[in-house]
Amino acid sequence: MPADPAADEGTAAVYARELAAAVDAVRAASALCSRAQGRLLAGETLTKGDDSPVTVADFAAQAVVCSVLERHLGEFGMVGEEDAAELDGARRAALLDGVVGLVRGELGPEVAATDVLAAIDRGDAVTSAGVTSERYWTLDPIDGTKGFLRGDQYAIALALIERGEVVLGVLGCPNLANPDGSTGATFVAVEGRCDVVTAAGTSPARVAAPTSLADARFCESVESGHSDQGASARVAELLGIRAEPYRIDSQCKYAAVARGDASIYLRLPTRPGYVEKIWDHAAGMFAVTQAGGRVTDVTGAPLDFSRGARLEANRGVIATDGRYHDEVVAAVQQILP
Ligand code: AMP
Ligand code: MG
Repeated sequence: MPADPAADEGTAAVYARELAAAVDAVRAASALCSRAQGRLLAGETLTKGDDSPVTVADFAAQAVVCSVLERHLGEFGMVGEEDAAELDGARRAALLDGVVGLVRGELGPEVAATDVLAAIDRGDAVTSAGVTSERYWTLDPIDGTKGFLRGDQYAIALALIERGEVVLGVLGCPNLANPDGSTGATFVAVEGRCDVVTAAGTSPARVAAPTSLADARFCESVESGHSDQGASARVAELLGIRAEPYRIDSQCKYAAVARGDASIYLRLPTRPGYVEKIWDHAAGMFAVTQAGGRVTDVTGAPLDFSRGARLEANRGVIATDGRYHDEVVAAVQQILP
């Protein structure tokens, strides 16, 4: 990361304050998650209403991101995955203690439980009428919670949306292995530019197109319930792709495409009713497009972030280096029912 993002030209300068805030917020949440991974106690994980797992670290990371954004920016709108109401009630007291402990480890011992609960819901831009604000952040504090719990990959995904368009994305991938042997990378995207920040420094992320589809590598979810792995195998066969799928949790799949570790990310619907959430895609989609790639749904339509908290107009996701995007969409269309 440049020491002073405001020194950068163009759109980066327009969003300099937001960029500095988002990088600081994701860095703090990444540090918290790295410390927490593998150290959660029994009872510090629960299952939400939609059957997905959530841990004390998910809530703590959201509290930290919102606190850091507030410190930099004052008021802001937020569409975050987690909801403080999940921590309500006596049954959840132990859970709240765990959350507060993690937040204190990052922000200091003076933080009170009431501050943590307020931070988790700070700026909540979702009302019964949907998302009514014109400008808001969207956050997945731990994308890929199943990977996080397994000790594998996960991401802290934060993006800024203005009038239905993503304008900034920061994707923290604390466990991602880098080509230089180090671990952990943060992808920082603004219009026209995506940087990857590691312990070794900052460099531009660029997609990499293989010379032919036969040499392409595609990534997909580890979880077969999140993406149809049978269908993706048939798509790969149709396209002549020889490499085994690169299965990796979270928006690290977008990170892999953005810096050329893979050239295709397939997210093929496993059931008709599932609608993707904006926090699962905004930061990663923007990293790939600003690194030179393309992102659409399985029909080839652009992801439409103007429909509220979910991608109501889209089904599934296809992200690529760009060169073979149309061929990949056509193959997916041929395979999907
Ligand atoms: P991944 O790490 O790529 O497997 O994706 C993790 C995300 O999948 C979670 O954040 C969930 O929001 C999302 N998810 C949950 N159920 C489904 C589903 N049936 N289809 C697609 N995504 C899902
Ligand atoms: Mg997620």
